[in-house]
Amino acid sequence: KGDLMKGKKGLIMGVANDKSIAWGIACQLAAQGADIALSYLGESLLRRVQPLADSIGVKHLIECDVTSDASMDTAFAQLKEIYGEIDFLIHSVAFANKNELQGSFVENTTREGFLLAMNVSAFSFVDSARRAAELMPNGGSLITMTYLGSERVIPNYNTMGVAKAALEASTRYIARDLGPKAIRVNAISAGAMRTLSLAGISGGRALHAKGKAFSLMKEDTAMEGVAGAALWLASDLSLTTTGEVVHVDSGFHVVGLPDDMEM
Ligand code: NAD
Repeated sequence: KGDLMKGKKGLIMGVANDKSIAWGIACQLAAQGADIALSYLGESLLRRVQPLADSIGVKHLIECDVTSDASMDTAFAQLKEIYGEIDFLIHSVAFANKNELQGSFVENTTREGFLLAMNVSAFSFVDSARRAAELMPNGGSLITMTYLGSERVIPNYNTMGVAKAALEASTRYIARDLGPKAIRVNAISAGAMRTLSLAGISGGRALHAKGKAFSLMKEDTAMEGVAGAALWLASDLSLTTTGEVVHVDSGFHVVGLPDDMEM
């Protein structure tokens, strides 16, 4: 408990269940006094998200499908009605079809699947950032979630890796545009964590296990660590950090060859 986020209001997008990274972030921000609205995809998720929201005193739940302009219009109009102005936005949303997340990238990637992954996982941050910035006349912080598959080749991550590369590049371009408005824009590159999204990737369990075994710390990526980075970036502690991709993966991203290899 603390007051690092006292007086700060914002939106967290992407809680599906209690394993969601967005949920871990919501818990830490709420514990530091943030006033939070959560957005969720579709009526069917509300059954799961409502009790979670209640458990940390979140009063505002907003339905939002990032692929729909109408849904985005309504969601951000609701956000404006609730808060008027906001201080932070956490974007923790991604999707690709299962058949784009396995085997050969060059063989399995379809036009439709590629564009869907780009739309939900990269463009949605650009769109959200533009809308959020309108509610941030006094500056603020925008944060998105990414993964190392954007920078390096990870088996089966395929189309999502390309979408994450676009997301990280978008983070830098948005940061350029919004920097003069005192809005910081950063991405957190988390190690593999066992969420719904990971389950959609072929070999997701192995990705998680290797993420720990090959990491410098020989540790899983802890939700508290990811949420801690989000707290730093969302709070005034990160006052002059923008355009950055912060890795929170027990050091997995710097490994060239795993040190349990026979040499
Ligand atoms: P998750 O499945 O809990 O969260 C993904 C969220 O995206 C869900 O809440 C889902 O409802 C939402 N979503 C999907 N399509 C949407 C749409 N059209 N409109 C609105 N929302 C939509 O899984 P997660 O692992 O918490 O993923 C959150 C973010 O973290 C994603 O960007 C993911 O790529 C990223 N990430 C995950 C890991 C990991 O290993 N789990 C690692 C690094 C980065």
